[in-house]
Amino acid sequence: MAIADIVIKNGTIVTSEITYQADVAIQGERIVAIGENLSGAREIDATGKLVTPGAIDVHVHLEMPIGDFVSADSFFTGTQAAAIGGTTAIVDFVETQADETMLTALTARRQKATQAVIDYGFHMTICPTDIGKLDQLPAVYQAGCTSFKLYMAYGLRLDDGQLLQALEAVRNVGGMPVVHAENWEVITSMIQRNLSAGRIEPRWHPRSRPDIMEGEAAGRVIDIATLVGTPLYIFHVSCAEVVARIAKARQDGLPIYGETCPQYLFLTDTAYDETGVQGALPVCSPPLRTPTDQAYLWEALGQNNLQVVSTDHCPFTRAEKATGLQDYSRIPGGVPSIEMRFPALYTFGVKSGHFSVNRWVDICCTTPARLFGFHRKGHIAVGYDADVVIFDPDREVTLSTDTLHEDVDWTPYDGLVMTGWPLMTFSRGEMIVEEGRFVGQPGRGWFVQRRLG
Ligand code: MN
Ligand code: MN
Repeated sequence: MAIADIVIKNGTIVTSEITYQADVAIQGERIVAIGENLSGAREIDATGKLVTPGAIDVHVHLEMPIGDFVSADSFFTGTQAAAIGGTTAIVDFVETQADETMLTALTARRQKATQAVIDYGFHMTICPTDIGKLDQLPAVYQAGCTSFKLYMAYGLRLDDGQLLQALEAVRNVGGMPVVHAENWEVITSMIQRNLSAGRIEPRWHPRSRPDIMEGEAAGRVIDIATLVGTPLYIFHVSCAEVVARIAKARQDGLPIYGETCPQYLFLTDTAYDETGVQGALPVCSPPLRTPTDQAYLWEALGQNNLQVVSTDHCPFTRAEKATGLQDYSRIPGGVPSIEMRFPALYTFGVKSGHFSVNRWVDICCTTPARLFGFHRKGHIAVGYDADVVIFDPDREVTLSTDTLHEDVDWTPYDGLVMTGWPLMTFSRGEMIVEEGRFVGQPGRGWFVQRRLG
């Protein structure tokens, strides 16, 4: 064999299945050999370090317009922060306007992403105005969007009849539907009731979006998906009510999947009791829940009743959050997590004993790759993209706006100590992060033509 470009030597390779010592040889953009005593033009000693696949974050909102605001991280700053945290691929979203085709909207959104530093894909949102355009789904799938976003809340929500039609169309192309499940009618009634009674503070946000109605919506869409005969992936599971429904469906042998996010694993609803803007910062939907719910989520990840942790990264600045202090329902929703997810799940998932190091890789890398069609990512094996993280299991990083690279003036994880952090991140064979510093070029990330196996 010709001498490889790069060999990562003496590391501990961690896949979703096994942990073993070997060298990893990279030629061009791919992993070309794994074995003993490999040599390369450049050799990197990874003794005492973990060598993992790059993490994949299948739920992010970069430069996302919401009402009067646009989420704070651009495709450049957001993907740079992701890479520093060990993430080498993301999936963002496309929304189609009433007067355009889905492919036109996809092209426009791809043009927004040209400064991305890691690889990316998009979920195609099926809006109410897209119900008449469902015959476009085969073309969208062919263009590399294998997943379709359905809302049960907000202005873009589909009613149950529209959910049925959308799920049938996604089934017909063999795609993966992803859903925001909350009961919007109940939420809007409770918000109106609170606001008319002068209950305007952020603490009323979780009290307007009860866990039981997130569970109801999840159960309803699981039932419709089952009727249709399609797999289904439930976004940002926050509470035991939803976990129970996913667990039941999976016990019945149904292809139902769920993700949760760092905010639900590390924060709880008492955060909304803080005064002033502090209580508004962690507003996101579904809302943060109780410590009991949080314990269920960790347990569900260990037991495979939840399969993925993604971030729903969608930060807004302190000033933007403060615009809703007179009406909590107007606070732009979302928190930053894109950088800390992979190391945080190592520190608090693996080191705290919730699951194995292999399960960590499965949750953050391998299962998201498989469910969302990154067929050459999420695994360390010959022929795969050389999206690789050299992870130092002993490196301590205390999270703060100084140590993180997200382009927003706050973090909900200020002071949280990570034990374990990426030392180097490779994306398609190129070292783009070294010792916590981004060393790649803006725009080097590619749109991935995803396809399901
Ligand atoms: Mn959502
Ligand atoms: Mn989201």
